[in-house]
Amino acid sequence: MIELLAKRLRGVLSPEQIITDRQELRTYECDGLAQYKATPGLVVFPHTTAQCAAVVRACAEFGLPFVARGSGTGLSGGALPHAQGVLIVTSQMRSILALSIEDERAVAQPGVINLDLTRAAQPHGYHYAPDPSSQQICSIGGNVAENSGGAHCLKYGFTTNHVTGLEIVTPEGEVMELGGYAPDPPGYDLIGAFVGSEGTLGIATAVTVRLTRTAESVRTVLAAFHGTDDAGAATSAIIAAGIIPAAIEMMDALAIEAAEAAVHCGYPSGAGAVLIVELDGAQSTVDSGFVRVAELLRHHGAFEVRVAADDAERALIWKGRKSAFAAVGRISPDYLVQDGVIPRTALPGVLRRIAALSQEHGVRVANVFHAGDGNLHPLVLFDAAQEGAAERAATVSGAILDLCVEQGGSITGEHGVGVDKSAYLPRMFTADDLDTMQLLRCAFDPAGIANPGKVFPTPRMCGEARRR
Ligand SMILES: Cc1cc2nc3c(=O)[nH]c(=O)nc-3n(C[C@H](O)[C@H](O)[C@H](O)COP(=O)(O)OP(=O)(O)OC[C@H]3O[C@@H](n4cnc5c(N)ncnc54)[C@H](O)[C@@H]3O)c2cc1C
Repeated sequence: MIELLAKRLRGVLSPEQIITDRQELRTYECDGLAQYKATPGLVVFPHTTAQCAAVVRACAEFGLPFVARGSGTGLSGGALPHAQGVLIVTSQMRSILALSIEDERAVAQPGVINLDLTRAAQPHGYHYAPDPSSQQICSIGGNVAENSGGAHCLKYGFTTNHVTGLEIVTPEGEVMELGGYAPDPPGYDLIGAFVGSEGTLGIATAVTVRLTRTAESVRTVLAAFHGTDDAGAATSAIIAAGIIPAAIEMMDALAIEAAEAAVHCGYPSGAGAVLIVELDGAQSTVDSGFVRVAELLRHHGAFEVRVAADDAERALIWKGRKSAFAAVGRISPDYLVQDGVIPRTALPGVLRRIAALSQEHGVRVANVFHAGDGNLHPLVLFDAAQEGAAERAATVSGAILDLCVEQGGSITGEHGVGVDKSAYLPRMFTADDLDTMQLLRCAFDPAGIANPGKVFPTPRMCGEARRR
């Protein structure tokens, strides 16, 4: 069947836009979560919305699944392909279609790299605010699908707060416009439904985003604490004081050790935790906020409060944080990147319980995360060559998610459910909840061909939903 589909697509796409060679197909067998692998049946690289729609229509006609893929940096296996399906890669749809500073909007093809939007807007005094740590490589289409966040989303909001319009190809191959430059169109919030839908409601082929005025002044502070308890308490105290920093990020001792080894970021020695607090806005607001933040940090036990003196120092402070995931590879051959959310005030207690889990199972856990949002990223370290180590790491990883749910949080903050966490959804939602969500999915995708097997625990077909 896949061969017939390839034959059909050769009438729509040029030869360089289709991969059928088995060795080449293997390049696309996983995303950033390499535990799950499948060689796709076919990979295609559309250049235009029309080509994308033609590919999806052909998939619908042949009854074969398709999976969208941007840059493949996803950490939940969302872009894991199907052996008997088509992987639609948007990396050749990289044009910024419009940049309207007057409207504070940009329109991007889905393959545009996140940071390139900021680079385009920067000369005009604007930027694109959602800034995942992967922003140098991840795509806007992937950001939309995952509702991606980043360090500065504490103040500026997640991807969903910055998308005002979408052009999508529905799973039946129809091109639809949702919203546009104007905010809050009347009717059901279909943009809200699409953002974060992880490729299960169709493919975004153009994304209209807000551009954000770049602040007049930025001040970045690195505060060193003896442990995560104090750093967690300081985080809550800053927010409780009515100050909303652009970012509050935390790293614990193990994450600091890894970052130092990788990028020599010069964090204070002997720190059991560091906080990076960034304030931005009008000069006078930043200056007064900074004095208060420094007081609060010291009051909660910071033994060093270091202010970045210039852009170079600021970049070095951030380099440690932004390289932390990859840096952990230096201190452990294997690791799981976990992603969960808890209420901010629960940080000290939850971090203590993560430490206890780590001790109990003999598994090291490094914590590096968006403290201001309560969005944890425990990195669970293991050596796959040691018998039972991967299983122990998985146990700790799952127990951390249970902790998040128990605290009234969530099993994912920004990396999505994908294939990795679909089994955890029933820990947060009842069967009725899941069936109700499935109704929305079925309304977009009655044949169940858009990224099937992702997000939901049992890949029910639409006709099988319990109460339609
Ligand atoms: C080192 C590192 C750091 C990271 N830091 C962060 C972070 O700070 N915050 C954060 O949120 N994430 C982070 N991530 C995760 C990842 O970068 C984001 O989820 C990102 O948005 C994925 O973009 P992508 O282009 O790589 O998407 P892919 O991995 O290619 O795809 C991700 C999902 O989106 C779907 N998809 C892709 N394109 C489209 C489209 N056009 N239409 C519909 N569905 C589509 C895919 O089917 C899949 O389900 C990090 C990843 C790495 C490796």
